[in-house]
Amino acid sequence: DLWTAKGHLEFRNVEFGYGNGRTILPDFSLDIPAGQTIALVGTTGAGKSTLAKLVSRFYDPTRGAVTLDDVDLRSLHPKDLRRAIVMVTQEAYLFSGTVADNIALGKPDATLDEIKAAARAVGADAFIEALPDGYDTDVNKRGGRVSAGQRQLVSFARAFLANPAVLILDEATASLDMPSERQIQDALQTLLADRTAIIIAHRLSTVAIADRVLVMEHGRIIEDDAPEAL
Ligand code: ATP
Ligand code: MG
Repeated sequence: DLWTAKGHLEFRNVEFGYGNGRTILPDFSLDIPAGQTIALVGTTGAGKSTLAKLVSRFYDPTRGAVTLDDVDLRSLHPKDLRRAIVMVTQEAYLFSGTVADNIALGKPDATLDEIKAAARAVGADAFIEALPDGYDTDVNKRGGRVSAGQRQLVSFARAFLANPAVLILDEATASLDMPSERQIQDALQTLLADRTAIIIAHRLSTVAIADRVLVMEHGRIIEDDAPEAL
């Protein structure tokens, strides 16, 4: 009875504005085959995060549709939508509870072994094991404090465990305590395998691992190419 999406994502003549008379996306079309990784780049205000918000249904198009496996997102059951599409944002939120609880948000019935496997897959295991109580460390307690970069890794582990058909990632801009470029790249490569992904990319190393790079300006795609071609 569970519907499993393949991950074919499509914007079909999407028009969108935030309801203040300004149109952000006049007529946006994009076809992303299942399994493809898209890096989205472009000037500030181009509409990159707006696209991400339409895919996660924070907003719906005013005209046209976003479809998953040819089904309009508006006709999907919210539960199916949440399972199929996961967004990882820059703020990489941790909720009160243990590190294990935070990773398991992606799959509430996960076993500790599955949680550890997800952490290992994205390279979050080393820092977690070094915490005072390992996976049982309360993230809000003294000694359980987790840096922005570590939060990012926990959110990657959460997404890996959730295993959605479509992953939307608004990449954090590099900050001082971020894991190394190499570590992020390795984590992303594991996280993106076998699923459709849209990454709002800030790092050149992320753009390099994408199958396809879209450059956006004023709500339109002005370039659509393989990373090598840019
Ligand atoms: P950045 O690189 O700075 O993150 P972006 O490409 O993600 O930019 P968006 O956040 O999608 O850009 O914004 C596109 C346009 O929509 C901008 O002009 C922005 O001011 C406007 N906008 C974004 N969110 C809202 C909102 N909640 N209400 C009204 N206008 C908004
Ligand atoms: Mg943005």
